[in-house]
Amino acid sequence: AAPAQKPEEVIKKYMEEVPVVPDEDCIICMERLSCLSGYEVPTECSQSLQPNTVGKLTKCGHTFHMLCMLAMYNNGTKDGSLQCPSCKTIYGEKTGTQPKGKMEIYSIPQSLPGHPDCGTIQIIYNIPPGIQGPEHPNPGQPYTCRGFPRFCFLPDNDKGRKVLELLKVAWTRRLIFTVGTSSTTGEPDTVIWNEIHHKTEMMSNVSGHGYPDPNYLDNVLSELASQGVTEDCLKR
Ligand code: NAD
Ligand code: ZN
Ligand code: ZN
Repeated sequence: AAPAQKPEEVIKKYMEEVPVVPDEDCIICMERLSCLSGYEVPTECSQSLQPNTVGKLTKCGHTFHMLCMLAMYNNGTKDGSLQCPSCKTIYGEKTGTQPKGKMEIYSIPQSLPGHPDCGTIQIIYNIPPGIQGPEHPNPGQPYTCRGFPRFCFLPDNDKGRKVLELLKVAWTRRLIFTVGTSSTTGEPDTVIWNEIHHKTEMMSNVSGHGYPDPNYLDNVLSELASQGVTEDCLKR
């Protein structure tokens, strides 16, 4: 994990103060940018940001009260990264709230439907039950783990192996699973898939999460990208 940075420093790393305030709303507090931030941030949390300071995110250029961005950051996992609430551009390395567990990779000498000319990569995720941390919906309460180990399948070709490498990055950044309410079963406080789809059926497609699916690898690459996991992560 990245060394802890002061929240205010994270905001100032990715936003620059704008001298001329645009005639727009701040979509975090819904006040005019020319009005004061709607968020009360205790003064000990911010020495240099004032309620009227407006900043622009360095890559996408969207503008917000800097104190509103600080309040949003303090509400999240405080991992040193920011995400633009307008366009979802990620600054730094986004991490999630996946509980502790194991990711294992195996090779299966059998082809997936739709990928006749290669073998199969099998991923096995195993997460044991535990107690929710401060980053989870009900800190201190237990979470359950249904249907683990979960088995997932990728074609063992160039694109499938690239997806595998990116899934390993996503695993390390705690982005594959989260703790919440299962939309399939309605059970709260349980480990659920996050926003990166996996294929959990190898030779059948009863759940709709099986093969063949000619768009799957492209879809999962774009889901990974929207979590900030791209090919650039493999070059470093
Ligand atoms: P969820 O139902 O909240 O859904 C989250 C995301 O996962 C959604 O995007 C959904 O499309 C996707 N998803 C749902 N079912 C999936 C499946 N079978 N394979 C791949 N992706 C799936 O998340 P959840 O509760 O983690 O998903 C349900 C999964 O849990 C299923 O894989 C199901 O087999 C498993 N499960 C098993 C048991 C069991 O006792 N064996 C019990 C509960 C859930
Ligand atoms: Zn605001
Ligand atoms: Zn933006």
